[in-house]
Amino acid sequence: MSVRELVILGTASQVPTRHRNHNGYLLRWDGEGILFDPGEGTQRQMLRAGVAAHDLNRICVTHFHGDHSLGLAGVIQRINLDRVPHEVTAHYPRSGQRFFDRLRYATAYRETVTLTEAPVDTDGALARTPGYTLDARRLSHPVESYGYRLTEPDGRRMLPDRLAAHGIKGPDVGRIQREGVLNGVPLDEVSEVRRGQRFAFVMDTRLCDGVHALAEGCDLLVIESTFLDEDEALAVEHGHLTAGQAARAARDAGVRHLVLTHFSQRYSEPEEFERQARAAGYEGELTVARDLLRVPVPKRR
Ligand SMILES: [Zn+2]
Repeated sequence: MSVRELVILGTASQVPTRHRNHNGYLLRWDGEGILFDPGEGTQRQMLRAGVAAHDLNRICVTHFHGDHSLGLAGVIQRINLDRVPHEVTAHYPRSGQRFFDRLRYATAYRETVTLTEAPVDTDGALARTPGYTLDARRLSHPVESYGYRLTEPDGRRMLPDRLAAHGIKGPDVGRIQREGVLNGVPLDEVSEVRRGQRFAFVMDTRLCDGVHALAEGCDLLVIESTFLDEDEALAVEHGHLTAGQAARAARDAGVRHLVLTHFSQRYSEPEEFERQARAAGYEGELTVARDLLRVPVPKRR
């Protein structure tokens, strides 16, 4: 069975704490693994979470602050040490190419793996696979930052009672799916749209159009909430979100499962993020991220 889940490797902004590693998130999407924002210590967090270098197909970096990218050096060297047999593709803001170069070649090691650099410099699609389209969208932060979104193509769900009513069974079911029509019966008549699933990864940013576009209709949204609402002035100044801002964006976008993360070290009570998100009117599934937590993509509706 195909697995779609988020593995949370780290949840701290800027400074790791006794309980929170720097950022790091692995999305398992069917057979593929996409690593987002590997901060310092990501290699060891992968070990603790049961994620192997072989699990990685793609790396997406939102921006070049250390808590989102210092782990690249270790993760890239590990991919090579383990001789990962497939290509790995890295996306990151093109304006930070010099940082990527330094992290990729931080120390001496033997390169054994094809690591394809696919930097981002505009909104739009980065990759299309049978399982998803990956898009980037510009965010608002003191350094150039892009959020990422996976959209599964819509499919069709066959309706057994309609098939039976038209006497369609056995190999004819496959035939009408392939050909779109069978003996004058159109596919629409015996099936309905099965909406593709959507995932987005949003950090670091102030509220902006990109936040709303990325969050729209997501089954699972991972979004930064560095600050609590009482520190909104700080959030605006430093280019971050508060718990209430993130939750309102998720509410307005119809998000089904919201994951808040990237917390400032100044706060010691994660419950307060949950309380403020609920006070903002978000009613879907809510997770205040902890290191090494696994969050399944919600079941299809
Ligand atoms: Zn950050």
